[in-house]
Amino acid sequence: MNEELTKRVPKTTTITDDYEICSTVLGVGITGKVVQCIAKKTKERYALKVLRDCVKARREVDLHWKASSCVQVVNIIDVYENTYTGSRCLLVVMECMDGGELFQRIQNKKDGAFTEREAAKIMYDVCSAVKFLHDRHIAHRDLKPENLLYTKPDQTGILKLTDFGFAKEVIAKGTLQTPCYTPYYVAPEVLGPQKYDMSCDIWSLGVIMYILLCGFPPFFSDHGHPISPGMKKRIRTGQYDFPAPEWSNVSQDAKDLIKGMLEVDSTKRLTIEQVMRNKWIALYMEVPQTPLHTGQMLREGVDVWPEVQEEMTRSLATMRVDYDQVHIKAINNSNNPLLNKRRKRSGLPDTPSK
Ligand code: ADP
Repeated sequence: MNEELTKRVPKTTTITDDYEICSTVLGVGITGKVVQCIAKKTKERYALKVLRDCVKARREVDLHWKASSCVQVVNIIDVYENTYTGSRCLLVVMECMDGGELFQRIQNKKDGAFTEREAAKIMYDVCSAVKFLHDRHIAHRDLKPENLLYTKPDQTGILKLTDFGFAKEVIAKGTLQTPCYTPYYVAPEVLGPQKYDMSCDIWSLGVIMYILLCGFPPFFSDHGHPISPGMKKRIRTGQYDFPAPEWSNVSQDAKDLIKGMLEVDSTKRLTIEQVMRNKWIALYMEVPQTPLHTGQMLREGVDVWPEVQEEMTRSLATMRVDYDQVHIKAINNSNNPLLNKRRKRSGLPDTPSK
């Protein structure tokens, strides 16, 4: 049986039977700390994320587990369902990402300037993770620099995507979830509204690609200095450019791809299939080895980097909210007072028809 389709269930045995939990904190996120743990049998080091058991946490673990067979996604090794001081928790044991965050690595790069070809290889890897998710109808919805981590600090390190806290399965439950379902035969209207969630991931890819190529983000900043007022408007209206000198030598292919990813109209924005077929991504090994200003700009903007991250977090939250909270009611089912007044005037009943 296809392992991906097998529903995985957390272990109910105690985690400390198998792992020693260390006090070393690997990182702190919105849901708590990620600490180190060591497998008692193999002495191998892992990362442990503890989540309070709830529907949202179950969804995070379920979707992350489903995505775990992708090389470009941080692997889940084990999940335990244990009680800690009276609360039920999910303990997620993951591979340990010792190489740190993507942009930290570029900022600290010692061996010559970061090149356009290196940026293309990174984009190829991140897009592969997104393709894997979108093919399985999962939108990540929180694709941002701090969720892209390297396995190791040296050249053998692999870049992987993590944190499925906002991931969403974009096919209505119970409709197309059967194991025999083939994604290629889904009518466009079935995938219609869900495409919005997918297009948020493409927007994130556009922002990440822009930063990779120059070291500052497209909307939020002017050469590393965040501008808050009007930022939302600039995002909405797609106001960004490719300023000199940082962009002067960057290829037109790269700029065109960014434009397609940051397209304001989400229905016209590129899909992950189109992105993967784009020659700058598909033939990344042929992209020119032009030296970029990225490393220098990231170093100069190090003080404002936390603000850049916050801005991206806020923008993604806005995109999720805009979509999650908009429900268009059928006019016949609306109980709007103004509409009822009009209905009265035209002799129609004011109670909505069921
Ligand atoms: P949250 O969902 O609470 O924001 P994350 O999953 O993003 O938590 O993790 C928080 C931080 O912990 C990350 O930014 C990273 O620094 C660190 N971290 C997360 N997963 C790992 C891992 N597998 N290996 C090493 N560090 C990790």
